[in-house]
Amino acid sequence: MDRYAVFGNPIGHSKSPFIHTLFARQTQQQMSYEAMLAPLDGFPQVLAQFFADGGKGCNVTVPFKEQAYGLVQQLSPRAKLAGAINTIRRTDDGLLLGDNTDGAGLVQDLLLHIPSLAGLRILLLGAGGAARGVIGPLLEQQPANLTIANRTFSKAEQLAEHFAPLGAVRAATFEALTGPFDLILNSTSASLAGEIPPIPAALIHEDIAVYDMMYGPGETPFNQWARGLGARACIDGLGMLVCQAAESFMLWRGIRPGTKQVIAELRRNLGAR
Ligand code: NDP
Repeated sequence: MDRYAVFGNPIGHSKSPFIHTLFARQTQQQMSYEAMLAPLDGFPQVLAQFFADGGKGCNVTVPFKEQAYGLVQQLSPRAKLAGAINTIRRTDDGLLLGDNTDGAGLVQDLLLHIPSLAGLRILLLGAGGAARGVIGPLLEQQPANLTIANRTFSKAEQLAEHFAPLGAVRAATFEALTGPFDLILNSTSASLAGEIPPIPAALIHEDIAVYDMMYGPGETPFNQWARGLGARACIDGLGMLVCQAAESFMLWRGIRPGTKQVIAELRRNLGAR
């Protein structure tokens, strides 16, 4: 039985074991997948032990994605660009290969809801680990431009500078945003505290789509807010979660699992709408 895991702190809430168990059943793979709590000051040791014990691969989640980047021997091009990893695979020669599947997962899920991202004016709220992972794959879709706005403006500026060679990227403060935008992506963790990034309500119009990377049993505070102001589509991050997991599964097993049914089952499991 090949062994996989997800490391994080906290980790009890993780849906990854549920998702990968469904993927394994669907594709008839003999594998186990468990959630493992890593101590905040002991992630490198726990990770090394897991692979020394024969682990084949793992996911890494908050708050270890950037630390994990420095613990592997090889990096995929998209992981290098992001500066953070959420997936590790042990290669046949025993080396650890790091990848970042968050951006591919987001884009795949967005394209289930929106025909194309080409030519869109995109606003990305937040400049943390999730934002880092998604900017490169978003720019590959050739939007007209991408604006990054963050509470701590300097972090938005740093990201805009880092990704500027790949497309039209700029940084802004929440308050100074004017738009117009076609798509707003919320990658802040504000929803965790029931808060909404303080962006002008005038940015929301009847043709806009909003995507909150958060998910839960009910609609997220950000999506509720945008829906109340008349946004055309309000999508949460459950599909991204499943699609990034499918990319990790593909890296480990060489088989791409179907995502639509798993998204529906996870939604049912959350007791959602
Ligand atoms: P980080 O801690 O790295 O970054 C958090 C970001 O949120 C920062 O930009 C921070 O701003 C901002 N922020 C936090 N609180 C507030 C607030 N009250 N108002 C405005 N901005 C705020 O987290 P991640 O980037 O790793 O994750 C962000 C979110 O994305 C989480 O909710 C996570 O669950 C979700 N996510 C979902 C995934 C999925 O598959 N659906 C995958 C990955 C992440 P500042 O820089 O000023 O501190």
